[in-house]
Amino acid sequence: MEKIILTGDRPTGKLHVGHYVGSLKRRVELQNSGDYKKTFIMIADAQALTDNIENPEKVRQNIIEVALDYLSVGLDPAKSTLFIQSQIAELCELTFYYMDLVTVSRLQRNPTVKAEIQMRNFEASIPVGFFTYPISQAADITAFKATTVPVGEDQLPMIEQTREIVRKFNSVYSEVLVEPDVLLPDNKACLRLPGIDGKAKMSKSLGNCIYLSDPADEVKKKIMSMYTDPLHLLVSDPGHLEGNTVFTYLDAFCRDEHFERYLPDYANLDELKAHYTRGGLGDVKVKRFLNNVVQEELEPIRKRRKEFEKDIPAVYEILRKGSEAARETAAQTLSEVKSAMKINYFDDAELIRAQSEKYQG
Ligand code: ATP
Ligand code: MG
Repeated sequence: MEKIILTGDRPTGKLHVGHYVGSLKRRVELQNSGDYKKTFIMIADAQALTDNIENPEKVRQNIIEVALDYLSVGLDPAKSTLFIQSQIAELCELTFYYMDLVTVSRLQRNPTVKAEIQMRNFEASIPVGFFTYPISQAADITAFKATTVPVGEDQLPMIEQTREIVRKFNSVYSEVLVEPDVLLPDNKACLRLPGIDGKAKMSKSLGNCIYLSDPADEVKKKIMSMYTDPLHLLVSDPGHLEGNTVFTYLDAFCRDEHFERYLPDYANLDELKAHYTRGGLGDVKVKRFLNNVVQEELEPIRKRRKEFEKDIPAVYEILRKGSEAARETAAQTLSEVKSAMKINYFDDAELIRAQSEKYQG
């Protein structure tokens, strides 16, 4: 079967280094690999509205930010279809039909949605749209017959929900939908990059992010203020790696060649870690090293962003064209879905003929 990618991001803020290591970097590699027939990258504005009802302007403003971030990391509109979710009306129709295939208790068991409800203090007042967003996400994925969804670990329950919907649909109706596979980062630290405050996940909604577009001095300030090991008070104290955000980031970003360039006293990260746990290595030195490593990765991204920022109408045009192309694909799938569900009355000459025969005798 030909392989197709679908993935995306919510326009609730600029994209951060968690997105980068968790998904964006991989997407660019996949896009350039030539192994995929199509790559669809979606700005999930309709999903963002489900928990930003009071704040449509935030979503509107961040469309362009996310698009600029996409282009600056190397997503290429000649190879990937970049589009905006709300512009594809077919996705709403699919969501509506898939709702019949999912129970309320199944949705309530989704651990990511549970955690997000708690984080947003939604307990007593969960918007239905937010509660059901895993179904809408299934529509997004299946509309493009995606085989492969490169995302961070928090998305696993969504992909599982999608697979269940596909199986149910295909068994009740007919084999129209494709069961997607998730593609997680190989590097464990990238599965769910923590925030600079040490919280479990760097997230736009938690304000604990290093953004891809942060200027170099801002990145440095954030890294120097990062959460480390609260027990590591004196340089001579033995340090702990567990839950130490600076080391998690090094796991995510650093390669041996960085040591040659910025910290030649050590050959690799294992040596640095050994010294830290032994005692005698200060946080500031490690943070300075991390800063060099992260800046090296972000500098070309910032440069490319500056170029794209010069022609904003061209960026909107990329999204408009991408949305048009995406809509064609989604419309094709919807049409197959509707005929499988037997709600394609006017396209079905046989139905009309048979009904007519019934009455004409
Ligand atoms: P929000 O707080 O609005 O949900 P977010 O920062 O969680 O925003 P999303 O747009 O929900 O970002 O996620 C987009 C993609 O980035 C998903 O594939 C998600 O798994 C991945 N991702 C988000 N945050 C991280 C992270 N901290 N580490 C690894 N991957 C991440
Ligand atoms: Mg999220």
